Amino acid sequence: MTRYPPPRLIGSAIYRGSTYGPKHPLAIPRVPPMLDLCEALGWIEPEHYIDSPQASVEQLTRFHTPDYIAALMRVETAQAVSEAERARHHLGAHGNPIYREVFRRPATGAGGMILAARLTAEEGGVVHVPGGGTHHGMPDRAAGFCYLNDTVLGLLAWLDLGLTRLLYVDIDAHHGDGVQDAFHDDDRVLTVSVHEANRWPFTGALDDRAGGMARNIPVPTGFNDSEMAHVLHHAILPLAERFRPEGIMLQCGADALEEDPLARLSLSNNAHRAVALALREIAPRLIVTGGGGYNPWTVARCWAGVWGTLNDFPLPPRLPPRAEAVLRGLSFSRAAGRHPPEHWFTTIADAPRDGPVRAEIRQACEAVLR
Ligand SMILES: [Zn+2]
Repeated sequence: MTRYPPPRLIGSAIYRGSTYGPKHPLAIPRVPPMLDLCEALGWIEPEHYIDSPQASVEQLTRFHTPDYIAALMRVETAQAVSEAERARHHLGAHGNPIYREVFRRPATGAGGMILAARLTAEEGGVVHVPGGGTHHGMPDRAAGFCYLNDTVLGLLAWLDLGLTRLLYVDIDAHHGDGVQDAFHDDDRVLTVSVHEANRWPFTGALDDRAGGMARNIPVPTGFNDSEMAHVLHHAILPLAERFRPEGIMLQCGADALEEDPLARLSLSNNAHRAVALALREIAPRLIVTGGGGYNPWTVARCWAGVWGTLNDFPLPPRLPPRAEAVLRGLSFSRAAGRHPPEHWFTTIADAPRDGPVRAEIRQACEAVLR
Protein backbone atom coordinates (compact mmCIF):
# COMPACT_ATOMS: atom_id res chain seq x y z
CA MET A 1 0.00 0.00 0.00
CA THR A 2 1.33 3.42 -0.93
CA ARG A 3 2.01 5.68 2.01
CA TYR A 4 1.23 9.34 1.59
CA PRO A 5 2.29 12.21 3.83
CA PRO A 6 -0.30 13.37 6.39
CA PRO A 7 -2.77 16.03 5.21
CA ARG A 8 -1.40 19.55 5.04
CA LEU A 9 -3.32 22.76 5.70
CA ILE A 10 -2.37 25.93 3.84
CA GLY A 11 -3.61 29.18 5.39
CA SER A 12 -2.51 32.77 5.80
CA ALA A 13 -2.75 35.68 8.20
CA ILE A 14 -3.76 37.89 5.26
CA TYR A 15 -7.41 36.90 5.77
CA ARG A 16 -7.42 38.30 9.33
CA GLY A 17 -9.25 41.60 9.38
CA SER A 18 -9.65 41.54 5.60
CA THR A 19 -13.13 42.38 4.33
CA TYR A 20 -14.80 43.27 1.04
CA GLY A 21 -16.60 46.09 2.89
CA PRO A 22 -19.48 46.24 5.37
CA LYS A 23 -22.35 45.77 2.90
CA HIS A 24 -20.77 42.98 0.86
CA PRO A 25 -21.60 39.28 1.44
CA LEU A 26 -17.85 38.83 2.02
CA ALA A 27 -17.84 41.31 4.88
CA ILE A 28 -17.60 38.24 7.09
CA PRO A 29 -14.50 36.40 8.34
CA ARG A 30 -14.20 32.84 6.99
CA VAL A 31 -10.67 31.44 6.94
CA PRO A 32 -9.64 32.90 10.36
CA PRO A 33 -12.53 31.38 12.34
CA MET A 34 -12.06 28.07 10.51
CA LEU A 35 -8.38 28.04 11.50
CA ASP A 36 -9.15 29.21 15.05
CA LEU A 37 -11.74 26.47 15.45
CA CYS A 38 -9.28 23.82 14.25
CA GLU A 39 -6.58 25.25 16.52
CA ALA A 40 -8.93 25.21 19.52
CA LEU A 41 -9.73 21.57 18.82
CA GLY A 42 -6.03 20.65 18.70
CA TRP A 43 -6.36 19.76 15.04
CA ILE A 44 -3.38 21.72 13.69
CA GLU A 45 0.06 20.19 14.14
CA PRO A 46 2.57 22.97 13.41
CA GLU A 47 4.49 20.72 11.02
CA HIS A 48 1.35 20.14 8.95
CA TYR A 49 0.40 23.82 8.65
CA ILE A 50 1.92 25.91 5.85
CA ASP A 51 1.77 29.68 5.57
CA SER A 52 0.69 30.41 2.01
CA PRO A 53 3.17 32.12 -0.29
CA GLN A 54 1.90 34.91 -2.54
CA ALA A 55 1.90 33.90 -6.20
CA SER A 56 4.33 35.80 -8.43
CA VAL A 57 3.24 37.84 -11.44
CA GLU A 58 4.80 35.17 -13.63
CA GLN A 59 2.74 32.47 -11.94
CA LEU A 60 -0.47 34.49 -12.21
CA THR A 61 0.04 35.23 -15.91
CA ARG A 62 0.02 31.50 -16.60
CA PHE A 63 -3.74 32.09 -16.82
CA HIS A 64 -4.45 35.80 -16.39
CA THR A 65 -3.51 38.55 -18.83
CA PRO A 66 -0.52 40.74 -17.92
CA ASP A 67 -2.71 43.83 -18.35
CA TYR A 68 -5.22 42.54 -15.84
CA ILE A 69 -2.62 41.62 -13.21
CA ALA A 70 -0.99 45.05 -13.63
CA ALA A 71 -4.37 46.72 -13.23
CA LEU A 72 -5.18 44.71 -10.10
CA MET A 73 -1.84 45.66 -8.52
CA ARG A 74 -2.30 49.31 -9.50
CA VAL A 75 -5.82 49.39 -8.08
CA GLU A 76 -4.66 47.97 -4.73
CA THR A 77 -1.95 50.61 -4.44
CA ALA A 78 -4.19 53.49 -5.46
CA GLN A 79 -7.30 52.15 -3.69
CA ALA A 80 -9.14 53.61 -6.65
CA VAL A 81 -10.04 52.45 -10.13
CA SER A 82 -10.19 54.29 -13.44
CA GLU A 83 -13.30 54.18 -15.60
CA ALA A 84 -11.40 52.14 -18.20
CA GLU A 85 -10.23 49.57 -15.63
CA ARG A 86 -13.72 49.26 -14.22
CA ALA A 87 -15.24 48.69 -17.64
CA ARG A 88 -12.63 46.26 -18.90
CA HIS A 89 -11.72 44.31 -15.77
CA HIS A 90 -14.93 44.63 -13.72
CA LEU A 91 -12.96 46.02 -10.78
CA GLY A 92 -14.96 48.21 -8.43
CA ALA A 93 -18.12 46.93 -10.15
CA HIS A 94 -20.31 43.82 -10.50
CA GLY A 95 -19.83 42.81 -6.85
CA ASN A 96 -16.03 43.03 -7.03
CA PRO A 97 -15.17 45.95 -4.75
CA ILE A 98 -11.78 47.63 -4.31
CA TYR A 99 -10.57 46.70 -0.82
CA ARG A 100 -7.27 46.93 1.07
CA GLU A 101 -5.77 43.58 -0.03
CA VAL A 102 -7.58 43.31 -3.38
CA PHE A 103 -4.43 42.03 -5.12
CA ARG A 104 -2.44 40.43 -2.27
CA ARG A 105 -5.32 38.39 -0.84
CA PRO A 106 -6.31 36.59 -4.06
CA ALA A 107 -2.63 36.29 -5.02
CA THR A 108 -2.06 34.54 -1.68
CA GLY A 109 -4.94 32.17 -2.37
CA ALA A 110 -3.38 31.44 -5.75
CA GLY A 111 0.06 30.93 -4.22
CA GLY A 112 -1.45 28.41 -1.81
CA MET A 113 -3.12 26.49 -4.59
CA ILE A 114 0.04 26.38 -6.73
CA LEU A 115 2.00 25.17 -3.71
CA ALA A 116 -0.67 22.53 -2.99
CA ALA A 117 -0.31 21.30 -6.57
CA ARG A 118 3.48 21.07 -6.25
CA LEU A 119 3.39 19.27 -2.89
CA THR A 120 0.86 16.70 -4.05
CA ALA A 121 2.42 16.23 -7.49
CA GLU A 122 5.66 15.22 -5.82
CA GLU A 123 4.45 13.32 -2.78
CA GLY A 124 0.76 12.52 -3.26
CA GLY A 125 -1.66 12.95 -0.38
CA VAL A 126 -4.15 15.59 0.67
CA VAL A 127 -3.82 19.38 0.95
CA HIS A 128 -6.60 21.66 2.21
CA VAL A 129 -6.53 25.29 1.07
CA PRO A 130 -9.61 26.96 2.61
CA GLY A 131 -8.65 30.36 1.17
CA GLY A 132 -8.71 28.91 -2.37
CA GLY A 133 -11.70 28.16 -4.55
CA THR A 134 -12.21 31.36 -6.57
CA HIS A 135 -13.83 29.48 -9.44
CA HIS A 136 -15.45 32.42 -11.26
CA GLY A 137 -12.27 34.42 -12.00
CA MET A 138 -11.71 35.03 -15.72
CA PRO A 139 -8.42 35.59 -17.61
CA ASP A 140 -8.95 39.34 -18.06
CA ARG A 141 -11.52 40.23 -15.42
CA ALA A 142 -12.96 39.67 -11.98
CA ALA A 143 -16.31 37.89 -11.64
CA GLY A 144 -18.56 36.79 -8.81
CA PHE A 145 -16.34 38.10 -5.94
CA CYS A 146 -13.35 36.28 -7.54
CA TYR A 147 -10.45 38.42 -8.77
CA LEU A 148 -8.11 35.59 -9.75
CA ASN A 149 -8.94 31.98 -10.54
CA ASP A 150 -6.81 30.07 -8.05
CA THR A 151 -8.54 26.77 -8.94
CA VAL A 152 -7.49 27.09 -12.59
CA LEU A 153 -3.97 28.11 -11.53
CA GLY A 154 -3.71 25.03 -9.28
CA LEU A 155 -4.89 22.71 -12.05
CA LEU A 156 -2.48 24.32 -14.54
CA ALA A 157 0.34 23.82 -12.03
CA TRP A 158 -0.53 20.11 -11.86
CA LEU A 159 -0.51 19.89 -15.68
CA ASP A 160 2.80 21.74 -15.86
CA LEU A 161 4.26 19.22 -13.41
CA GLY A 162 3.37 16.40 -15.77
CA LEU A 163 0.01 15.10 -14.56
CA THR A 164 -2.32 14.32 -17.45
CA ARG A 165 -5.69 13.22 -15.97
CA LEU A 166 -7.25 15.68 -13.52
CA LEU A 167 -10.75 15.66 -12.10
CA TYR A 168 -12.26 18.90 -10.84
CA VAL A 169 -15.37 18.50 -8.69
CA ASP A 170 -17.28 21.65 -7.70
CA ILE A 171 -20.06 21.46 -5.07
CA ASP A 172 -20.39 25.22 -4.58
CA ALA A 173 -23.97 26.48 -5.04
CA HIS A 174 -22.81 28.36 -8.15
CA HIS A 175 -21.62 26.87 -11.44
CA GLY A 176 -17.82 26.62 -11.72
CA ASP A 177 -17.85 28.58 -14.97
CA GLY A 178 -14.31 29.95 -14.90
CA VAL A 179 -12.78 26.49 -14.52
CA GLN A 180 -15.02 24.89 -17.15
CA ASP A 181 -14.17 27.66 -19.63
CA ALA A 182 -10.43 27.49 -18.91
CA PHE A 183 -10.26 23.78 -19.84
CA HIS A 184 -12.86 23.85 -22.60
CA ASP A 185 -10.50 22.36 -25.17
CA ASP A 186 -8.27 20.34 -22.86
CA ASP A 187 -9.08 16.63 -22.57
CA ARG A 188 -6.70 16.27 -19.62
CA VAL A 189 -9.16 17.97 -17.24
CA LEU A 190 -12.67 16.69 -16.55
CA THR A 191 -14.81 19.26 -14.72
CA VAL A 192 -17.94 18.23 -12.82
CA SER A 193 -20.10 20.94 -11.26
CA VAL A 194 -23.13 20.44 -9.03
CA HIS A 195 -24.92 23.76 -8.57
CA GLU A 196 -28.29 25.40 -8.04
CA ALA A 197 -30.28 25.67 -11.29
CA ASN A 198 -31.34 29.14 -12.47
CA ARG A 199 -28.84 30.97 -10.28
CA TRP A 200 -25.98 33.29 -11.25
CA PRO A 201 -23.89 32.88 -13.46
CA PHE A 202 -26.77 31.04 -15.25
CA THR A 203 -24.37 28.70 -17.08
CA GLY A 204 -23.83 24.97 -16.56
CA ALA A 205 -27.01 23.49 -17.98
CA LEU A 206 -27.40 19.70 -17.86
CA ASP A 207 -26.54 19.31 -21.56
CA ASP A 208 -23.55 21.69 -21.44
CA ARG A 209 -20.41 19.59 -21.90
CA ALA A 210 -18.07 22.39 -22.97
CA GLY A 211 -16.54 20.55 -25.89
CA GLY A 212 -16.77 17.17 -24.20
CA MET A 213 -14.89 17.38 -20.91
CA ALA A 214 -17.49 19.00 -18.65
CA ARG A 215 -20.42 17.49 -16.80
CA ASN A 216 -23.02 19.72 -15.19
CA ILE A 217 -25.64 18.76 -12.66
CA PRO A 218 -27.95 21.71 -11.98
CA VAL A 219 -30.12 20.92 -8.94
CA PRO A 220 -33.42 22.35 -7.69
CA THR A 221 -33.95 24.44 -4.56
CA GLY A 222 -34.10 22.39 -1.38
CA PHE A 223 -31.37 19.97 -2.60
CA ASN A 224 -30.86 17.67 0.42
CA ASP A 225 -28.22 15.30 1.83
CA SER A 226 -29.85 12.19 0.35
CA GLU A 227 -29.83 13.85 -3.07
CA MET A 228 -26.16 14.80 -2.73
CA ALA A 229 -25.36 11.20 -1.71
CA HIS A 230 -27.20 10.05 -4.85
CA VAL A 231 -25.22 12.48 -7.03
CA LEU A 232 -21.98 11.33 -5.39
CA HIS A 233 -22.61 7.61 -5.88
CA HIS A 234 -24.50 7.73 -9.19
CA ALA A 235 -22.64 10.47 -11.05
CA ILE A 236 -19.42 11.78 -9.48
CA LEU A 237 -17.87 8.45 -8.44
CA PRO A 238 -18.83 6.57 -11.64
CA LEU A 239 -17.35 9.42 -13.72
CA ALA A 240 -14.20 9.28 -11.61
CA GLU A 241 -13.94 5.49 -11.97
CA ARG A 242 -14.05 5.79 -15.74
CA PHE A 243 -11.57 8.66 -15.87
CA ARG A 244 -9.07 7.31 -13.30
CA PRO A 245 -7.71 10.72 -12.31
CA GLU A 246 -4.16 11.19 -11.07
CA GLY A 247 -5.34 14.16 -9.04
CA ILE A 248 -8.69 15.48 -7.83
CA MET A 249 -9.48 19.05 -6.87
CA LEU A 250 -12.65 19.53 -4.80
CA GLN A 251 -14.08 23.05 -4.76
CA CYS A 252 -15.80 22.80 -1.41
CA GLY A 253 -17.82 26.03 -1.29
CA ALA A 254 -20.15 26.22 1.71
CA ASP A 255 -22.97 28.17 0.09
CA ALA A 256 -25.03 25.07 -0.78
CA LEU A 257 -25.74 24.63 2.94
CA GLU A 258 -29.22 25.28 4.28
CA GLU A 259 -28.32 28.39 6.29
CA ASP A 260 -26.51 30.23 3.49
CA PRO A 261 -28.13 33.56 2.60
CA LEU A 262 -27.10 33.61 -1.08
CA ALA A 263 -28.50 30.29 -2.32
CA ARG A 264 -31.54 28.13 -1.72
CA LEU A 265 -30.08 24.64 -1.36
CA SER A 266 -30.55 22.64 1.85
CA LEU A 267 -27.50 20.51 2.50
CA SER A 268 -26.09 19.88 5.96
CA ASN A 269 -22.32 20.01 6.35
CA ASN A 270 -22.32 16.18 6.53
CA ALA A 271 -22.69 16.27 2.73
CA HIS A 272 -19.43 18.17 2.25
CA ARG A 273 -17.49 15.82 4.52
CA ALA A 274 -18.94 12.76 2.76
CA VAL A 275 -17.89 14.05 -0.67
CA ALA A 276 -14.38 14.93 0.54
CA LEU A 277 -13.94 11.53 2.15
CA ALA A 278 -15.16 9.62 -0.90
CA LEU A 279 -12.87 11.55 -3.25
CA ARG A 280 -9.88 11.00 -0.95
CA GLU A 281 -10.18 7.25 -1.51
CA ILE A 282 -10.11 7.20 -5.30
CA ALA A 283 -7.01 9.14 -6.35
CA PRO A 284 -3.45 9.48 -5.12
CA ARG A 285 -3.80 13.28 -4.80
CA LEU A 286 -6.57 15.49 -3.45
CA ILE A 287 -6.67 19.26 -3.07
CA VAL A 288 -9.69 20.59 -1.18
CA THR A 289 -10.46 24.30 -1.50
CA GLY A 290 -12.89 26.72 0.07
CA GLY A 291 -15.20 28.72 -2.18
CA GLY A 292 -18.52 30.43 -1.55
CA GLY A 293 -20.14 30.60 1.87
CA TYR A 294 -21.77 33.68 3.33
CA ASN A 295 -22.86 32.69 6.85
CA PRO A 296 -19.81 32.87 9.12
CA TRP A 297 -20.90 30.05 11.46
CA THR A 298 -21.84 27.74 8.61
CA VAL A 299 -18.54 28.31 6.81
CA ALA A 300 -16.28 27.87 9.85
CA ARG A 301 -18.07 24.71 11.02
CA CYS A 302 -18.21 23.19 7.53
CA TRP A 303 -14.59 23.76 6.58
CA ALA A 304 -13.19 22.88 10.03
CA GLY A 305 -15.21 19.66 9.88
CA VAL A 306 -13.78 18.89 6.44
CA TRP A 307 -10.23 19.33 7.74
CA GLY A 308 -11.00 17.13 10.76
CA THR A 309 -12.48 14.45 8.53
CA LEU A 310 -9.57 14.51 6.07
CA ASN A 311 -7.40 13.72 9.13
CA ASP A 312 -9.79 11.05 10.45
CA PHE A 313 -10.23 13.05 13.66
CA PRO A 314 -13.50 12.22 15.46
CA LEU A 315 -15.84 15.22 15.54
CA PRO A 316 -16.77 16.04 19.15
CA PRO A 317 -20.55 15.90 19.72
CA ARG A 318 -20.20 19.00 21.87
CA LEU A 319 -17.41 21.49 21.34
CA PRO A 320 -14.98 22.17 24.18
CA PRO A 321 -15.17 25.71 25.67
CA ARG A 322 -12.28 27.21 23.66
CA ALA A 323 -13.80 26.08 20.37
CA GLU A 324 -17.25 27.26 21.41
CA ALA A 325 -15.75 30.65 22.25
CA VAL A 326 -14.47 31.00 18.67
CA LEU A 327 -18.01 30.56 17.33
CA ARG A 328 -19.60 32.77 20.02
CA GLY A 329 -17.13 35.48 19.05
CA LEU A 330 -18.56 35.78 15.52
CA SER A 331 -21.19 38.31 14.54
CA PHE A 332 -23.29 38.66 11.41
CA SER A 333 -25.26 41.68 10.32
CA ARG A 334 -27.88 39.71 8.38
CA ALA A 335 -31.16 38.47 9.86
CA ALA A 336 -29.70 35.04 10.71
CA GLY A 337 -27.19 36.77 12.97
CA ARG A 338 -29.76 38.16 15.37
CA HIS A 339 -30.77 34.88 17.02
CA PRO A 340 -28.31 32.18 15.96
CA PRO A 341 -29.45 28.71 17.04
CA GLU A 342 -27.46 27.20 19.89
CA HIS A 343 -25.98 24.38 17.82
CA TRP A 344 -24.06 26.92 15.70
CA PHE A 345 -21.98 27.56 18.81
CA THR A 346 -21.74 24.10 20.33
CA THR A 347 -21.29 21.63 17.47
CA ILE A 348 -19.27 21.01 14.31
CA ALA A 349 -21.55 18.50 12.57
CA ASP A 350 -25.06 19.56 11.60
CA ALA A 351 -28.05 17.28 12.04
CA PRO A 352 -28.42 15.38 8.73
CA ARG A 353 -30.84 16.90 6.25
CA ASP A 354 -32.04 13.78 4.45
CA GLY A 355 -35.09 13.67 2.25
CA PRO A 356 -36.57 12.10 -0.87
CA VAL A 357 -34.37 11.87 -3.97
CA ARG A 358 -36.40 13.68 -6.62
CA ALA A 359 -36.82 12.21 -10.09
CA GLU A 360 -35.04 15.13 -11.75
CA ILE A 361 -31.92 14.40 -9.69
CA ARG A 362 -31.96 10.72 -10.71
CA GLN A 363 -32.47 11.69 -14.35
CA ALA A 364 -29.65 14.23 -14.26
CA CYS A 365 -27.25 11.59 -12.90
CA GLU A 366 -28.24 9.18 -15.66
CA ALA A 367 -27.82 11.91 -18.27
CA VAL A 368 -24.27 12.87 -17.30
CA LEU A 369 -23.14 9.23 -17.54
CA ARG A 370 -24.51 8.78 -21.06
ZN1 LIG B 1 -20.92 30.06 -4.70
